[in-house]
Amino acid sequence: MWEGSLAGGCLCGRLRYRVRHIESAYWCHCAMCRRASGSGALPWLTVARADFEMTAGTPARFSSSPGVTRLFCGHCGSPILFDMAKEAAVDVTVGTLDDPDAVTPTHHIWTQSALEMTAGLGAGLPRHKAEREN
Ligand SMILES: [Zn+2]
Ligand SMILES: [Zn+2]
Repeated sequence: MWEGSLAGGCLCGRLRYRVRHIESAYWCHCAMCRRASGSGALPWLTVARADFEMTAGTPARFSSSPGVTRLFCGHCGSPILFDMAKEAAVDVTVGTLDDPDAVTPTHHIWTQSALEMTAGLGAGLPRHKAEREN
């Protein structure tokens, strides 16, 4: 979907990463991403596991459900990565890219728990009540 390589990092700068060959990007409205980020909805991008690389620092880890690990900065708290053990791809928070506008989410997931305040966000994009049906 997006060729080339993008860099990103957490708020305090201890964590730095690089992604390549972005496969997709989407808004997640699930209650877990809401709590993990403190935001009304969270934009994610998806890359193959091999296309995500930490270039500085070691993230802290939190297992938010069986087989799911959320990686974040243990110093400043920025959420960086969503890692589902059974998947070949990982999800990275668009908001931690150095240039978030380089990526445009193309759909929404978990809209069954979307907040009213996010109604105008990504208006017109396909909305999936739960996970995306591929
Ligand atoms: Zn940090
Ligand atoms: Zn979510």
